[in-house]
Amino acid sequence: MIEFNNVSKEYSRDVYALRDVSLSIAAGELIFLAGPSGAGKSTLLKMIAGVEKPTSGSVSVNGQDIGKLKAGSLPYLRRKLGLILQEQKLLLDRTVLANVMLPLVVTGASGTEAETRARAALEKVSLADKANAKPQSLSGGEQQRVAIARAIVNRPQIILADEPTAFLDRDNANKVLSALKAFQSAGVTCIISSHDEQFLDKASRVIYLSNGRVTDSWHSALAA
Ligand code: ADP
Ligand code: ADP
Repeated sequence: MIEFNNVSKEYSRDVYALRDVSLSIAAGELIFLAGPSGAGKSTLLKMIAGVEKPTSGSVSVNGQDIGKLKAGSLPYLRRKLGLILQEQKLLLDRTVLANVMLPLVVTGASGTEAETRARAALEKVSLADKANAKPQSLSGGEQQRVAIARAIVNRPQIILADEPTAFLDRDNANKVLSALKAFQSAGVTCIISSHDEQFLDKASRVIYLSNGRVTDSWHSALAA
């Protein structure tokens, strides 16, 4: 479903975020992208979404070479993806419900349909009772689950989550990961980056990045 072929990314002269990365991810996997800060995890996720392009090599999603997509085709790719990236903050002046409805409103769904689906998505992350709250009144873990609801409301095939448990205590981090794992159980491919290694056993596969290279990759014995 996702293929990296000899992908390197050089942001500026001799600053390599990824070096000769080749990997292949099948539908339905829950991948944990591990490795220290600066290892290239965010860059790898952004390449799947077409936010960054490889300097050399190719990335394909469902057989489509992302690097060759015209700018106009990127929105179609992104609709298949649920993105939980660091830079995509919740809108603080709108309710939780309005935040989750947004991706549907943008793609032209009717207000009632968007609301029904947004409420169903909030239910999946156990936040139905917070629909009318403003994001500031929620805990960090709850805000992260709102971001998950917003990411899955379009029924994506793939969820990309960049450090979704950063800044959360263990209890909240567990809730966020359980929410993601529930989507994997429903058939959604999940790729989650984290420098926090306490959750590695929840993944079906761990890919370890260091200095822009894949230095290790293993299947978890405990994964369902
Ligand atoms: P991680 O997510 O593992 O922390 P990143 O992919 O964010 O790693 O970064 C990998 C390397 O690329 C780091 O050295 C970082 O400083 C560099 N880098 C990331 N984004 C940019 C950018 N937009 N411009 C220049 N260098 C960048
Ligand atoms: P509905 O059919 O009314 O959308 P569901 O309970 O099937 O209700 O889905 C609830 C929410 O979870 C929906 O908003 C949907 O977008 C989201 N979702 C995303 N991906 C999936 C999936 N693979 N399976 C089920 N629900 C998903």
